[in-house]
Amino acid sequence: MKLFCDLHIHSKYSRGTSKDISLNNLEDNARKKGINILGTGDFTHPEWLRTLSSLKEENGFLLTKTGFTFCLQTEVSLIFKKAGKLRKIHLVLLSPSLRTSKKIAAFISNYTNIEADGRPTISIDAERFIKELKQIDEDIEVIPAHVWTPWFGLFGSKSGFDSVEDCFSSMSEHIHALETGLSSDPEMNWMISSLDKYELVSFSDAHSFWPHRLGREATLVEMPEKKNYQSLISSIREKKVVLTIEVNPAYGKYYLDGHRKCSFYSSYKETEKLKGICPKCKKPLTIGVLNRVASLANREKGEKPDRSHPFIRMLPLMEIIAFHLGKGITTKTVRMEYERIISEMGNEYHILLDEKIDRIKEKAGENIGEIIKAQREDNLSIKPGFDGEYGKIIDY
Ligand SMILES: [Zn+2]
Ligand SMILES: [Zn+2]
Repeated sequence: MKLFCDLHIHSKYSRGTSKDISLNNLEDNARKKGINILGTGDFTHPEWLRTLSSLKEENGFLLTKTGFTFCLQTEVSLIFKKAGKLRKIHLVLLSPSLRTSKKIAAFISNYTNIEADGRPTISIDAERFIKELKQIDEDIEVIPAHVWTPWFGLFGSKSGFDSVEDCFSSMSEHIHALETGLSSDPEMNWMISSLDKYELVSFSDAHSFWPHRLGREATLVEMPEKKNYQSLISSIREKKVVLTIEVNPAYGKYYLDGHRKCSFYSSYKETEKLKGICPKCKKPLTIGVLNRVASLANREKGEKPDRSHPFIRMLPLMEIIAFHLGKGITTKTVRMEYERIISEMGNEYHILLDEKIDRIKEKAGENIGEIIKAQREDNLSIKPGFDGEYGKIIDY
């Protein structure tokens, strides 16, 4: 059976997240989306781990009373010096059990107060960090998070590296997958041949439980009837992912170069002409994902590595409804329309991927149907995101 996984989210205990996140509303919205396995976020946080401990542990996953599946997951922020530069990178960790999660939390608590932030920041070299985790449990999976984002991405323009090996040195072989992040998609990553050996995965990095955040990117994996953690990590380690769901990379917050405060953005060719300086405030521009990918690329766009999985570009249904109604995505009107459509037609992935356009028109209206049709044909125009500002739909 094929299962949609979103394995990078946060709980209410991470900084900058919605304080109303609960297991109930995560499950509720994950079901509406069509997500089959959801990351727990923040398992090193003592309060959240206590909440998670109330769930039933089975085959390496956690099950709620109604049978919904969570995978133990957290994100950590590493700060360390390497090759003469200060480095800051985020890593997603997947854990096979509550027992192992507790051990990881205990290990990290040697470096920082794990109660202060659900996404702990620790000063430790990345190579050493992997070595320590592998001693705790071989089945912990470490996935560099949103690898291209300027701050905290493994390949980010601010404090990243040019290759996986430059960062993890002797521990590189333990890295099997890279999270491409919202501002890049597999096609962009295919342009760098040194990444061919990595599985490219996509998750939401949601900071709230709302359906326009949760599952906005996801990874489809094949699994036996009895779903289990071992099959999940085998798909990742053996590069057997079926497909990924991607937002249009232009929708991502760091797609182009720019300055949010100056409302200025530029393509990498323009940035080059400007010598990287913002024409408005004369300070260096924040170099986005497309620029970084271009600077490391050694293949033409459209060329494919030997083994690659397909991907589907789509924006959340809430974005489509908000655009159609001309209202903010967090308004009650948009949310109620979303709820109505889901209750009539089934989960969001089903509607966006498979439902007949005529039926969508009948239930959700002519325009929503046309926008979803345009999205399936990859014909939505997006005003690109930059320097922390999301892109948005402008036409279809
Ligand atoms: Zn992160
Ligand atoms: Zn500026």
